[in-house]
Amino acid sequence: MKQSHKRKRLPYGSTNFPGRKADRLIKYCTSCKLCWEHKNSKVVKGFHLKNFEWYENFPTYGKERKICPNCTQ
Ligand SMILES: [Zn+2]
Repeated sequence: MKQSHKRKRLPYGSTNFPGRKADRLIKYCTSCKLCWEHKNSKVVKGFHLKNFEWYENFPTYGKERKICPNCTQ
């Protein structure tokens, strides 16, 4: 498993934790065993920055299994 210092992890229950509305957008990575989400991309100085977040201890029931960008690099 490759680690990246850019990875951002949010503990379950944090204020930034997504609500039920965002649940369907969250995928479960079978490689690093974390749920992750592709947030809205930001455009900074003409560059499209992809914005991903990872969630620890997130319920994985019903989540789509998809390898996260950290593990596919
Ligand atoms: Zn992963």
